[in-house]
Amino acid sequence: MKKVSVQCENIKLSYGPTEVLKDISLEIKPGEFFALLGPSGSGKSSLLRLIAGFNQHQAGRLLVDGKDISSKAPWERNIGMVFQSYALWPHLSVWDNVAFGLVERKTPKEIIRSKVSAALDQVGLLEFAQRKPNQLSGGQQQRVALARTIVIEPQVLLLDEPLSNLDKTLRVQMRQELLSMQRRLGLTTIFVTHDQEEAMTTADRMAVLEQGVLQQVGTPTELYDNPINPFVASFVGSMNFIDSKVKGVRQDGLELFSDSLGDFFVATSTHRQVGDHVQVSFRPQAIEICQSSRSNLDEGIIFSGIVSSSEFLGQCTRYSIKVGNVELVVDHPHKIGLKPFSKNAQVMLTLKPSEMKIF
Ligand code: ADP
Ligand code: MG
Repeated sequence: MKKVSVQCENIKLSYGPTEVLKDISLEIKPGEFFALLGPSGSGKSSLLRLIAGFNQHQAGRLLVDGKDISSKAPWERNIGMVFQSYALWPHLSVWDNVAFGLVERKTPKEIIRSKVSAALDQVGLLEFAQRKPNQLSGGQQQRVALARTIVIEPQVLLLDEPLSNLDKTLRVQMRQELLSMQRRLGLTTIFVTHDQEEAMTTADRMAVLEQGVLQQVGTPTELYDNPINPFVASFVGSMNFIDSKVKGVRQDGLELFSDSLGDFFVATSTHRQVGDHVQVSFRPQAIEICQSSRSNLDEGIIFSGIVSSSEFLGQCTRYSIKVGNVELVVDHPHKIGLKPFSKNAQVMLTLKPSEMKIF
């Protein structure tokens, strides 16, 4: 099947007087697995429903494969959508649920047979064809909803928080299944989620939406390493922020001062003036903890802190460490036998300026 692109150009959507999508411009490439990430109420479902044809935008253009589909009804769009609630028919068997869309389209019986069987095979549910939805687990019901959508052979697959009703282990397994199915079918897919881990582990590229405004679009690593604002920075992972003052401006960066870190230099192309306040940010793993006051890093800002609390996460221990008047989140990689620092322990910390970003 031909892989198609989806383009939103300056899309605006209001419900009555409330504008919920503000000038959205976005291009999803043919065959891409694209994640749309944002907090609850940010407009994710509204955008998905708009692409499916259940919402009509008041301004802008919506193009699939380069053609404007704004005036087409949902059933004319060749777009499949899986809803968070699955919306399966409880009184119909798995087979009949999946066949439903084809029956409605008056597809010949023989073709329905082969297509339903192929779709159920894709999701590994052929042997459950005669069961009713309530005789299936949550994960299996999710697969039925997926089979019901892919059976109509859409060019674009829209998934609205499809895994949020499943427990953690199943969610992780299902997101891998979703991805491998998407790769097999080569379907342009938009996957809506409020879970940053889910977005980052699956997406070729992703977008972060906040209050109807598209904040940033890029690969998961681009967003993680170069977030354009504090909102994106904290939404795609934990981030430390320190208020600092500009003491000197150099061609290659800024000389800064903060109460907690003292004087330090950050290489940046950001233009600021002496006296300006900036927010310096860095990830929890950018800090190294060492017991002695002698740092093993030649280059780095060295400072001390007091352990406020810790959480053992397996691969690392995540500390909250008080440094002056700020609490920093610090991830310390774990190895067998390594004893965590206790509460109120004094620790030395080093921070590489290359890990720091300025907002
Ligand atoms: P998300 O999926 O990111 O949680 P939604 O797209 O569901 O966000 O909602 C975005 C905003 O639009 C919310 O403030 C929500 O209350 C509002 N909204 C959603 N659907 C409707 C509707 N049919 N009528 C009026 N307001 C709506
Ligand atoms: Mg939603």
